[in-house]
Amino acid sequence: MSDTAKKDSLKQPSLNFIEEIIEEDLRNNKNEGRVHTRFPPEPNGYLHIGHAKSICFNFGLAKKYSGKCNLRFDDTNPITESVEYVDSIKEDTRWLGYDWEEREFYASDYFETLFDYAVNLIKKGKAYVCDMSTEEIAATRGTPTRPGKESPWRNRPLEESLELFYQMRDGKYPNGAKVLRAKIDMASPNMHMRDPVMYRIIHAPHHRTQNKWCIYPTYDWAHGQSDYIEGITHSVCTLEFEVHRPLYDWFLDALEIKKNRPRQIEFARLNLTYTVMSKRKLLELVENKTVNSWDDPRMPTISGLRRRGYTPESIRVFSEKVGVAKRENIIDVALLEHCCRQHLNKIASRVMAVINPVKLIIDNYPDNKTEELTGRINPEDPDTLMRKIPFTKTLFIEREDFMEDPPKKFFRLAPGKEVRLKYAYIIKCESVVKDPETGEITEIHCTYDAESRSGQDISKKKVKGTIHWVSYEHAVKIEARLYDRLLKTENPDVAEEGKDFKSNLNPGSLKIVEAYGEPSIRNFKKGSKVQFERNGYYTVDPDSTEKHIIFNRTVTLRDSWAKVLKNIGKKG
Ligand code: ATP
Ligand code: MG
Repeated sequence: MSDTAKKDSLKQPSLNFIEEIIEEDLRNNKNEGRVHTRFPPEPNGYLHIGHAKSICFNFGLAKKYSGKCNLRFDDTNPITESVEYVDSIKEDTRWLGYDWEEREFYASDYFETLFDYAVNLIKKGKAYVCDMSTEEIAATRGTPTRPGKESPWRNRPLEESLELFYQMRDGKYPNGAKVLRAKIDMASPNMHMRDPVMYRIIHAPHHRTQNKWCIYPTYDWAHGQSDYIEGITHSVCTLEFEVHRPLYDWFLDALEIKKNRPRQIEFARLNLTYTVMSKRKLLELVENKTVNSWDDPRMPTISGLRRRGYTPESIRVFSEKVGVAKRENIIDVALLEHCCRQHLNKIASRVMAVINPVKLIIDNYPDNKTEELTGRINPEDPDTLMRKIPFTKTLFIEREDFMEDPPKKFFRLAPGKEVRLKYAYIIKCESVVKDPETGEITEIHCTYDAESRSGQDISKKKVKGTIHWVSYEHAVKIEARLYDRLLKTENPDVAEEGKDFKSNLNPGSLKIVEAYGEPSIRNFKKGSKVQFERNGYYTVDPDSTEKHIIFNRTVTLRDSWAKVLKNIGKKG
């Protein structure tokens, strides 16, 4: 994405086009001034960040216009759906901060009504039972430029269709033997109008209706009617449903529904760079064990982001910032990470932890002395308390903070150079000890200036760099899980010929290392948000125990989005 495109993507008109439509409807007192939206997931997978966008938007509209938003499960396909998915969807929606109150609905609650509606259409000659197989139906559909062929069953007597439809419901036929189709127009330029299927036979138990039904409505048949039954005023969906809208209108017309028809409005789905978002692809990653679970912190699922350390606040702010668009676009994932950093900066407790340790010894510091230094838990929040940090002769510092042969602008530690140890003293590097076999540095020897202690510095020394550290003997061993992007290309859905998105997986998306933290690192509970100073934001993994402390890296401190904002001269 170019910087100008990014700048454009940040322009926020006072009302988005959907709010304009709603306000127009309110001015005309349409629906008696009611605004009623819904979030309609199919429980066939875990929710992802795209769904989060839709949740924030639909619940947000209801809030803004003092309306209501339903949670409705579009559970029309028993084969791919499950209670596990239903439960996860509820948990994730609640976690994002939204409350559907008593309005938890299921398309399956309406199976009886939808069946009656279908009978009504058959009786009007607007639907018929067709004996063709799925393959035959597909083969006779035609193409956008060539009309389809009418089914030989299209004009069977409606009494016959009616009887067959009842028999289908009663389980007389095997899967795929018959379907119910709407009788519209096999020559329509809109493929969705070419006698679409309304019911198919599926002998499979449903997670809610169990064995009550063996015919199930298609999404197209169920969706619009479910909206109508619930009194939805504004049915917001993604762009691919624009071409379905004439069909939904046709169904409502055929049922002679004139009042309180839901108004469908389409917006562009959220796409993110370096991210695949289709549930089918995410399921594949779970099933082939590329990731550990749906809530693997590398997944773009809401549960994955939660485990990674994202906050609901940051996801809501992100949704607000990306707004709604009428045309397909792709948002820089750096914006999501930026929103996360902005919030974590405000709330995360600070600790020092060394990810890639090397020993540092202060030769002129007393052998058995421990000083108790202090640091603010969060300098962004002066109300937070101070934490105690023990300081001793032997420390761990980050291997990357030392260079034997540094370039000019390296302001950290190097032979003969001085640096400040955060919250502590200025030290000077005197010598290093190396492993004679590998040549790897095993110890860095320094001297310290006893007059330079942070907060009481009378040394008058000026140093350019400050580095973090932990006391060797007080260090708490932790496991740090360093996550990187799961996919290594900006648009991973595009792959080389003959390959799919999996060829774009980043083999280095997870690195597990042993790290060392200051003693206060023990104080954090699962899910706590922490900043490892100078390194990144981390959170305690749910699998963490007192004996085996696990921290997930949420994001590093490097904010590439902030750079973009700086380049285009914008704040925030
Ligand atoms: P996917 O295409 O990722 O498999 P889906 O559209 O099949 O998702 P649903 O459970 O049908 O998943 O989606 C529930 C709601 O979330 C729908 O209203 C859909 O429009 C919306 N939604 C799904 N993906 C996105 C997205 N990327 N951006 C915005 N809204 C989305
Ligand atoms: Mg869908």
